[in-house]
Amino acid sequence: MIRYALVCERQHDFESWFQNSAAYDKQVKRGLVACPVCGSVKVEKAIMAPRLGHSQKPIDVPQPAAPAAETPAAQPPAAEAPAPVAMVSPQEREFRAKLKELRDHLTKNADNVGRKFPEEARKMHYGEIEHRSIYGEASPQEAKELHEEGVEFHPLPVLPEERN
Ligand SMILES: [Zn+2]
Repeated sequence: MIRYALVCERQHDFESWFQNSAAYDKQVKRGLVACPVCGSVKVEKAIMAPRLGHSQKPIDVPQPAAPAAETPAAQPPAAEAPAPVAMVSPQEREFRAKLKELRDHLTKNADNVGRKFPEEARKMHYGEIEHRSIYGEASPQEAKELHEEGVEFHPLPVLPEERN
């Protein structure tokens, strides 16, 4: 005896026993095998998942390894019009702050002698007037001459924002 899982034309599942597979074929052809649910004789063997044993381990399908690091990050929206931007490092920011501090200190504690700077600096250098802190303007040529005469001075730090 052999047991077949069958299905009728209306997808009713049922089982039936046969002498052998030839008997099954013969009985189905003769319309002797009827669906117990609807009575249809148009039946055929149901397609069944093969049972190869309960202990069979499910096949491990290796998941495609997708390292998160290589996953492309979400692209920033490209719709917006580009604007000029700049990155200012903390060091640069600190430098500018120090520069401003120094400048503020100098301008607060020194006399602004303006265009008279070379003359005033020279007078101090030669002891004609008391030494004091001054600041002012000097052309490159005047600055060169002062340096050559050994007059010690320093260019006033210019903040990047104040150029032009
Ligand atoms: Zn049926």
